[in-house]
Amino acid sequence: MVKTETGVWDECLKMIQEVVPPSEFQQWFLPIAAYSLEHDRLTLEVPTPYFYEYIEEHYLDVLSKAISSVLGPDAMLDYYVIVDKGNGITDEPLGMNIQKPLNAPPLKALSQPLVQEHIKGSQFAESTLKPSYTFENYVEGDCNRLARASGIAVGNKPGDNSMNPYFIYGGVGLGKTHLITAIGNQIRAHKASAQVIYLSAESFYRNFVEATKQNKTNEFVAFYKQIDCLIIDDIQFFAGKESTMMVFFDLFNHLHLNNKQIIISSDCPPSELKGMHERLQTRFKWGLTVDLHQPDFETRLAIISRKLSDHGITVSLDVVEYMAKAIETNIREIEGVVWSFVARGSFSRCNLDLNLAREIISRIVTKVETLVDVDDIQETVCDYFNVSVEDLKAKSRRKEIVVPRQIAMFIAREYTKNNLKQIGQAFGGRDHATVIHAVDSVKDLLNQDPSFKRSVEEITKRLQSKSH
Ligand code: ADP
Ligand code: MG
Repeated sequence: MVKTETGVWDECLKMIQEVVPPSEFQQWFLPIAAYSLEHDRLTLEVPTPYFYEYIEEHYLDVLSKAISSVLGPDAMLDYYVIVDKGNGITDEPLGMNIQKPLNAPPLKALSQPLVQEHIKGSQFAESTLKPSYTFENYVEGDCNRLARASGIAVGNKPGDNSMNPYFIYGGVGLGKTHLITAIGNQIRAHKASAQVIYLSAESFYRNFVEATKQNKTNEFVAFYKQIDCLIIDDIQFFAGKESTMMVFFDLFNHLHLNNKQIIISSDCPPSELKGMHERLQTRFKWGLTVDLHQPDFETRLAIISRKLSDHGITVSLDVVEYMAKAIETNIREIEGVVWSFVARGSFSRCNLDLNLAREIISRIVTKVETLVDVDDIQETVCDYFNVSVEDLKAKSRRKEIVVPRQIAMFIAREYTKNNLKQIGQAFGGRDHATVIHAVDSVKDLLNQDPSFKRSVEEITKRLQSKSH
């Protein structure tokens, strides 16, 4: 599969996000853009020279690891630094290139920068068909069978009246963008010269506004009229944007008349698009309307297995099943968990086991709080150690009671959303410092004592089976 700079950088960002504090991540990594990718050489565009120095000084290690794990050991990293010319002209930034192999010591100063023109995309569409979104890696399940099959049909025969427009709707993270991009890629695979433009409704709107400002509305319309396939993502954004809807209406008619394929995604069916011109709604129903549902358990299993194996990882079935049970909402969330799992495995060399899956999921997926509550935990722990729940809540300092009590507090902290105070309350009104102490003691013991660790694992396993 062909890798693009944005694809590679996106993957890196996901890994970096795992290990860098959110505020730092936002400040230092989000403003970086992928500039180019040639063989294994990734060039990153950074906003200022200072930016580059900061990253080099503080995050070179993280950055290098992420890039090498995505591109392999021979990866090279270049920076492209935007330089403010100081004359207020910002649409033609100049840049300097800094090249360095990943294993070289950090550069402290910028030396002899190479000044070059910034390369810009097409004026009216920065179309980006993500090459990694294909049908081949779009896992099929009951939730998407019809949408997927008809999407393939459109990809094979674009412009066919019965499927033009192809309108897909569904909730967030269910795979709309992936699917419509896959159709575009399929069309391109059959005919490399086909002009396929993908863009979000929001980008379309912004490009249109920009064109209007520059008195280039005619050029804008003419540009879109000559393409072969237009893919507009999240069309609900057009709601209430009168002139955008008008220009889109005109464009839609032109493309449709000329048997050019139109592909649209939305968060709801055409008739429920509030603030959308009725004549557009009517046209959206001319072709094929399909929807995506929440994935069922089997599909979630298949998707998780597929994503893990894409990362070259095999894990035991109970881990995959645990993940599939815990994440019901959408596929984006599933991906998030798989990513954390993979990243944690490669950065901190943790075992990719059930415990890691639990830990990650308890952080990411809000639903976990409904899986177990403190009562379940106390009961399970007491069963295991053969002590009574009353003892756990009482004042006893006997070791036979203290250990189960601490374990129960630890598990309550890890597996419920209760705060320290609430947990203390549930254990006979103890204060939050006691809970902190318990959690720390258990963590220490988990690291030192394998038989203790096995006990805790056994208890969490029992809890797990209770919770479903
Ligand atoms: P939406 O546009 O509906 O919000 P996306 O298309 O962005 O959702 O999907 C979210 C993530 O889940 C993407 O990374 C996508 O690759 C992945 N995904 C969605 N559906 C599938 C599927 N059926 N098989 C594999 N990955 C999927
Ligand atoms: Mg989307």
